[in-house]
Amino acid sequence: MIFPTNRYVRFDELTKLLFQLAETYPNLVDVGSIGKSYEGRDIWCATVTDKSTGSATDKPAVWCDANIHATEVSPTTALTYLLDQLTTLYGIDEDITRAVRTKTFYVIPRVNPDGAELFLADSPEAIRSSTRPYPFDDEPLSGLKREDVDGNGRLLQMRISDPDGPWKCHPDEPRLMIRRDATERGGSYYRLLPEGIVLDPDPDVLAMTPTRHGLDLNRNFPGHWRGESEQYGAGPYPTSEPEARALVDFIAKHPNICHALTFHTYSGVLLRPYGTSADDSMPAEDLWTFQEIGKKGTEITGYPAISVFHDFKYHPKEVITGVFDDWCYDHFGIYAWTVEIWSPHRQAGITEGFDATTKQGAFKFTTWGRNHELSDDIKLLKWSDDALKGEGYLPWVPFTHPQLGDIEIGGWDTLYAFRNPPSEFLFDEIQRFSKWVIWQALITPELELEVQTTHLSGTTYKIRAIAKNVGFLPTYVSKQALAKKVVRGIVMELTADSDISYITGKQRTELGQCEGYHLKGVANSGYAGDVTDYKVVAEWTISAPSGTTVKVDLKHTRGGCKHTIVVL
Ligand SMILES: [Zn+2]
Repeated sequence: MIFPTNRYVRFDELTKLLFQLAETYPNLVDVGSIGKSYEGRDIWCATVTDKSTGSATDKPAVWCDANIHATEVSPTTALTYLLDQLTTLYGIDEDITRAVRTKTFYVIPRVNPDGAELFLADSPEAIRSSTRPYPFDDEPLSGLKREDVDGNGRLLQMRISDPDGPWKCHPDEPRLMIRRDATERGGSYYRLLPEGIVLDPDPDVLAMTPTRHGLDLNRNFPGHWRGESEQYGAGPYPTSEPEARALVDFIAKHPNICHALTFHTYSGVLLRPYGTSADDSMPAEDLWTFQEIGKKGTEITGYPAISVFHDFKYHPKEVITGVFDDWCYDHFGIYAWTVEIWSPHRQAGITEGFDATTKQGAFKFTTWGRNHELSDDIKLLKWSDDALKGEGYLPWVPFTHPQLGDIEIGGWDTLYAFRNPPSEFLFDEIQRFSKWVIWQALITPELELEVQTTHLSGTTYKIRAIAKNVGFLPTYVSKQALAKKVVRGIVMELTADSDISYITGKQRTELGQCEGYHLKGVANSGYAGDVTDYKVVAEWTISAPSGTTVKVDLKHTRGGCKHTIVVL
């Protein structure tokens, strides 16, 4: 194993290790830059495939990226672990060997190296995404700026005693803050604020102003993109940011990509499109395929697989747009998922809404923040005290704030406990995804080519080429890909090393799509009619001198390329 799984690597080490991987496995791995970040760091892509069985672009592919959001660094570890699995188990594990021989993996472990570098610095800074100032160049004029004001190395919360405050201490557990009752007056109340300094302080007016780093790269994709007035952080126009642009450019130029997974934190779910509309707006066949992929994902990872629109909205009337997975599916018919690694709630035993037996439904992370049982807070606190040895939820410590006076600092260290798995939980959490990624590679179309020649008479030969898709998914992969006209039918081409003439058939011909063996139903109730819709045939009658070498090329946008050579 080349990459560590118990700590996070910074950019220089990540770069060094990626090239070390390529040097160790020259027949399996290429590392290259697909673009540069705002600050000029390379966005590395490791391409994994057995080069002896064909080039990367001639095979169906799976895309995996991570760490588009600055602080979401455990996703990088999930992907470097995948790279280690694909290489060290090649030739040992049957599925991995088959996948690496017949498919391609494009793995981008760190989309946003600038933001990650800031977060992994000795004195960490946590921003949402890009380091490019947005929407304005200079510092905000007023408001609260997050900062480690007491210098204890953590970004916690500030508790300010205030008779108008909406919070009070939990009756059984005074460390915990709970909401004040609707009609309650005259107790000890508090306001809670993120730890930070106040810009342009006014004793009566405090607002949360937008941060200087207001971009969210995962709102900058072209799918249903909406600007700043409708959605905070989306950037001035789709793919305005070099990181999103690099991804869009690469995916658009690699039509062999059938599946895509983008790794984030946190909440412990596998999210699928659409985020903007209900399931019935998607072709039913694609929905069934998404559900089948999701079912396998839950079986392998233990994470529920859910629709963003139906199960992961923060506000019932608001949707999030311009995101990577919706764009991949909507524009290209790629089966794209957003994996949200790590669930502190599940760790703490909060499973409401999620059926552990059927693995159906989902703990409603998105609505939990607005409304949940007080017992959940106790569970989380107990988890911090026991499993995290008190490092998750810190006691309230008095502090004299330069602008706010006597306050207390404490509460959840969300960056430590919530944002990524703490290091002792890291390996267990990230090791679960490789198998699902490999399974998705294995269900892509798989083309085979068989060529038969018949000597009819003299210099006349009949050549028959049969292309078949022995894969699970059809060659077009999704109905959406067909609807968007991004996949062409199978093209067969005949070339020869001497002058030949065609009596029947064209030198180059388009034959249409091949079905897979998916979606055929599971009931054998007498209606099955297993026609050979997974095959197409091309036939030529040619006149050629004896001994001519004939090559038949088979090409498909997603299914890949194959060729066969025969001597007449
Ligand atoms: Zn994220």
